[in-house]
Amino acid sequence: MMKEIRILKDHGKQYIPDLRKQPVSERFRGRPVISSGISAAEIERAATICPVDAIDGRNGAIDLGRCTFCNECALALPESYHFTNDYRIAATGREDLIIRPGQADPLRIDETAIRPEVRKLFRRSLKLRQVSAGGDNSCEMELAASGNVNFDLGRYGIEFVASPRHADGIVITGPVTENMSEALEICYRAVPSPKVIILVGTDAISGGLFTGSPALQRRFIEHHKADLYVPGNPAHPLTFINGIMDLLGL
Ligand code: SF4
Repeated sequence: MMKEIRILKDHGKQYIPDLRKQPVSERFRGRPVISSGISAAEIERAATICPVDAIDGRNGAIDLGRCTFCNECALALPESYHFTNDYRIAATGREDLIIRPGQADPLRIDETAIRPEVRKLFRRSLKLRQVSAGGDNSCEMELAASGNVNFDLGRYGIEFVASPRHADGIVITGPVTENMSEALEICYRAVPSPKVIILVGTDAISGGLFTGSPALQRRFIEHHKADLYVPGNPAHPLTFINGIMDLLGL
């Protein structure tokens, strides 16, 4: 008994009571803010620096679906690019992931883009099958962490299940390699309709560092509209959880 009490004392309180307001480290890189006064020369320099073409060379906007959050732009141009630790950056539309100069408001999902059946059917219970389509295990680990004692995603009836037959949707990580493309299709077809698609991480959303690689086969992503885009490299559990809570209206 004394041993358990000692463990409790050492570990402290691990359960996060409010997943909406949980503070994270100041060093965490979440929603970027781009100066409205950024010059054409600075935009050109930032676009050149960015290793994944996430910065639009015409206006300096950052595409969170491509950004690897490497911080190189902010290090080179600290007056123009800055990353806040705001982790609520999931979106229902691909275009909503583009952060433009002068855009300082927190990202909020577009409620009108959510299919009515999603909230009607899955608000109180959502079972998900995770498909790692050529992933590097980073997003996969963060997704696993979302169910741990800290984040406890299961408190909302949201869980990962072993079989697509038992799932209400799929969560895709990784850039979708040729070898995984057919397996992804098969898994998706095995989920009963209506079903949701959630893309987690830069690789799944855009291909990330592997964009243009002949080893990728992203037909599935191109032909199916995702219900939720969760940026990050890897995505933080709080980004994933808050994104799903917003999607379900919790
Ligand atoms: S933080 Fe994102 S936008 Fe900036 S250089 Fe890295 S990948 Fe590009």
